[in-house]
Amino acid sequence: MSDYITSTLSELVRTKSINPAFADGEPSDERAIATVLGTMMRALGMETTEYEPEPGRVSIVGRLRGSGGGKSLMLYGHIDTVGVTAMPEPFSAAVRDGRLYGRGSYDMKGGVAACLGAVKTLRDAGTTLRGDVLIAAVADEETASIGMADVLRHVTADAAIVTEPTELRVCLAHRGFSWIEVETLGIAAHGSRFDLGIDANMRMGRFLARLDTLEQQVRTRPPHPLVGPPSLHAAVLRGGTGTSTYADHCRLEIERRTIPGETEDQVLDEIRAITKALAAEDRTFRANVRAMLTRSSFEVDKNAAIVHAVLGAAESVLGQKPAVIGEPYWMDAALLSAAGIDTVVIGAAGAGAHALEEWVDLESVRKLTSILAKAATEFCA
Ligand SMILES: [Zn+2]
Repeated sequence: MSDYITSTLSELVRTKSINPAFADGEPSDERAIATVLGTMMRALGMETTEYEPEPGRVSIVGRLRGSGGGKSLMLYGHIDTVGVTAMPEPFSAAVRDGRLYGRGSYDMKGGVAACLGAVKTLRDAGTTLRGDVLIAAVADEETASIGMADVLRHVTADAAIVTEPTELRVCLAHRGFSWIEVETLGIAAHGSRFDLGIDANMRMGRFLARLDTLEQQVRTRPPHPLVGPPSLHAAVLRGGTGTSTYADHCRLEIERRTIPGETEDQVLDEIRAITKALAAEDRTFRANVRAMLTRSSFEVDKNAAIVHAVLGAAESVLGQKPAVIGEPYWMDAALLSAAGIDTVVIGAAGAGAHALEEWVDLESVRKLTSILAKAATEFCA
């Protein structure tokens, strides 16, 4: 199994699959790696189907058919990576001191290799499960998740395990985010004409002072037990056209990180409460607030069967109870959860996601493989 994992992961790392948003204008997509994965899945007795919502943006789903009547489990990994600019050895897949190096080794081809290894473990052991075991290897997680969104229009399962890297800790929640645009409106006028001009930048200043207060307030709210408090920051600010012109508008992009239980409507209402209060104080204050993009947070019920299966499998493989955590960043787990699929996240150990040197700890990939196989055996029995 150790050789299978190393050779499978090496082939995946050597197969370039940079998300086009990170490819510096070079043509790039997930077609080649999906083809490689299809061959690997079929060699394990899986039926495969490709999904291609946009040309070249290929996801592939393999299905190991059960004997019938059991619950189905989807093992998930994304197959796109971020870019490789200035990276010394992005596609080497070199192994040194138990680490396999290269772009995507940690985030998250190591997880994909473990999903394949888990199916091979079940096959080699002659285990017959009643439920189906699926592997969803999806495109475009690093940008807009068109891969997972499209797969979920066609494929479902009773539960899922997302193998994003967690250092073999069991992740049961992650934060979401809303990107919110606030625009203050003024009136352009020659810089000498204070009697005509209305300064949109000054009005944005008033807004920002109150947003600063809100930022401090949200972080003192009762924290979520796994992901902590919500947060926000004033990410992008642009206003004005020239030094001798009153700024007629100023535009701000806020990023608001949400915790389980918070909705887009709630976070918009908090922002609109500020603009309404400012408008009530000064009738020349005018502003528009709108949501640009929202990705919801994720949390799974601690009593879900898949949570028990993964915690039990991890304890038996690791020899101790695994740490239970929440992650601060967004993942496709939220899409699975929104589709009604109970989802747990557990993945390999390593370092360098999105950095110049990336590696995954091969022993952690082997342990992850065993955990996935045991969890599937319990869940799909
Ligand atoms: Zn990832």
